[in-house]
Amino acid sequence: MTATAAGLGSLPVRPELVGEVPYGAPQLEVPYRLNVNENPYPPSERVAAEVATAVAAAARSMNRYPERDAIELRSDLARYLGHGLSADQVWAANGSNEVMLHVLMAFGGPGRAACSFAPTYSMYPEYARDTHTAWTTVPRRADFTVDPGAAVAAITERQPDVVLVASPNNPTGTSVALDTIAAIAGAAPGVVVVDEAYYEFARAGTPSALELLPEFPRLAVTRTMSKAFAFAGGRLGYLAASTAFVDALRIVRLPYHLSTVTQAVARVALANADELLAAVDKLRSNRDDLARWLIGRGLQVADSDANFVLFGRLADRQATWQALLDRGVLIRIVGPDGWLRVSAGTDEEMVAFKAALSEILATEKGRLL
Ligand SMILES: *Cc1c(COP(=O)(O)O)cnc(C)c1O
Repeated sequence: MTATAAGLGSLPVRPELVGEVPYGAPQLEVPYRLNVNENPYPPSERVAAEVATAVAAAARSMNRYPERDAIELRSDLARYLGHGLSADQVWAANGSNEVMLHVLMAFGGPGRAACSFAPTYSMYPEYARDTHTAWTTVPRRADFTVDPGAAVAAITERQPDVVLVASPNNPTGTSVALDTIAAIAGAAPGVVVVDEAYYEFARAGTPSALELLPEFPRLAVTRTMSKAFAFAGGRLGYLAASTAFVDALRIVRLPYHLSTVTQAVARVALANADELLAAVDKLRSNRDDLARWLIGRGLQVADSDANFVLFGRLADRQATWQALLDRGVLIRIVGPDGWLRVSAGTDEEMVAFKAALSEILATEKGRLL
């Protein structure tokens, strides 16, 4: 059921929530789901069985609260990240969405402001709204890159308490250069969070903002197991920063926020990282092939370091999206008007998407601007 403005208006909810709808892409049962940037490959039977064994073990202690600080999981995550990090420099929560909510709860709030570079992840303004944090954006360049001069000037003028930088960005796929992130971190009076949800899909050799952590004590890097790690259903996101930064997040988290099951299955997934990440190269190559194919059809494509491609510009993107759905292919309406986002999938999914879009481009519903 969808909340309606009238329904909410009849209750004494916060006025800024009246007229709002719950966030989320449509969850439709269609043959080809290329709308939420999941890794399309399920775990092997062997990993699935290991997950099941871990759940069965967790079930035997379900009368007890989980280990509140998730120390073993955070140690595993620190080891996975490398860069000399230890468990007390790593935070974990139910998806990096919850990690970022913790950041806004600890460092945002009434009278404070968060800033990002638009177009960007549409959840960011929701964390700001939910924590009574003012929200501001700095526009990206026409090619969706971040202009370091404009970023530093805006931060210097507006003095935001929290700066969110998605790299690679969603929905554009664009990476932010490490020296631009350093310039932002140097100028920001508050905390800076680099959201590396899609980092594993970046071109080989792309440096991670983890490298900048020793230099900038108010910098944090978030990652997730939802995308490259093929573990979206496990709900596990994490962050690396200074111990003091992590201690601030520990203040605002709910007690026992990570269930015994979540901690156990995430540890199994991390122990099988090689297998779960094995499809990343294939998805990267399908992404690059998809981008070339779209360009070959006369479309504009944003440079992508993620597992999706933003393409345009369509005269009526809603009509194009619906025509794809009518052919069993679900993608996402997101980004500036005229653009659509499609996730990189299996070969079979890519063939289906291309066949459907080819048909549509020859009709009024696929007219380009
Ligand atoms: C998908 C995504 C996330 C991850 O969300 P989870 O809560 O970890 O599933 C974070 N940031 C961006 C930009 C994303 O696209």
